[in-house]
Amino acid sequence: MTISASTQVLAVIGDPVAHSLSPVMHNGWIADHGLDAVYVALPLTGDDPTAALRALKCFGLKGANVTVPHKEAAARVADRSENSVANVLRWEDDGSVSAFNTDGLGFLDSLSERAPDWRGRISRVLMLGAGGAARAIAAALSPFVDTIHFANRTAERGEAAALSLQNGRALRWDDLERGFGAADLIIQATTLGMDGQPENEWPVANCRANAIVADIVYRPLRTPLLNAASARGLTTIDGLGMLIHQGARSFELWFDVRPDAAKARARLLPALGETS
Ligand code: NAP
Repeated sequence: MTISASTQVLAVIGDPVAHSLSPVMHNGWIADHGLDAVYVALPLTGDDPTAALRALKCFGLKGANVTVPHKEAAARVADRSENSVANVLRWEDDGSVSAFNTDGLGFLDSLSERAPDWRGRISRVLMLGAGGAARAIAAALSPFVDTIHFANRTAERGEAAALSLQNGRALRWDDLERGFGAADLIIQATTLGMDGQPENEWPVANCRANAIVADIVYRPLRTPLLNAASARGLTTIDGLGMLIHQGARSFELWFDVRPDAAKARARLLPALGETS
């Protein structure tokens, strides 16, 4: 890679971003496509992320991924946004800013990759969590399924997420055994099981024999939930697929070309301490 004065700059912006996998993923794709661009990690701290994001316009960035805790601010600074929560910004030639959310479709892409027949298999979804990622995934899945039950530690947040969808329902956090037993697709979208966070005893024994179990946590790649589901012979989907596919859709929004997800997976596995 040769960096010159005309090299286009892209970034992942959040707090923290020091351990983000996005620079490895996007710089790999930039090299694959021979583009004159570079992708860096920019930590954004301070009490006014909106002003800082607006100021980026002055520096001629081409695009950015925005991550926790600035996704709402990213949608607010844009001249147009397809969602009130955005993970992609694109600075246009006319100086305006467009915002997008690729998290939900990124999850659907990873679901299609691991379970291509999912549309015929899934009618009831159990969503564990009701945070930003859970809501983005649920909004993308909603048109294709009968019901999405949100089970969230803080009940009011789960109920609000359920109310935001025509086919959303709330399930009590202490009623997970019933929820696991009824679902065709279970999506773990809390921080539980992530490195440094508490784990949980999930009632995997209650899962249907043909259930699909997804965990969007990708550090570690094989979470306790996925290990338990694999031991039962269920189809499992790890969080790296969603990360790569939301990134691939971001890349396409900036460069108008869909990059190779398999190449990105091969490059990112070593960063997660995995070999295959
Ligand atoms: P968020 O908006 O902060 O939501 C966090 C969720 O976790 C909430 O539902 C919260 O419940 C729940 N939670 C936190 N601690 C808990 C505990 N001790 N017991 C039970 N529930 C707990 O975060 P987010 O952005 O949605 O991210 C959620 C997870 O998804 C993170 O691990 C993140 O790394 C991962 N993620 C992965 C991808 C990917 O591409 N694979 C993309 C985005 C996010 P309360 O409402 O009760 O606090």
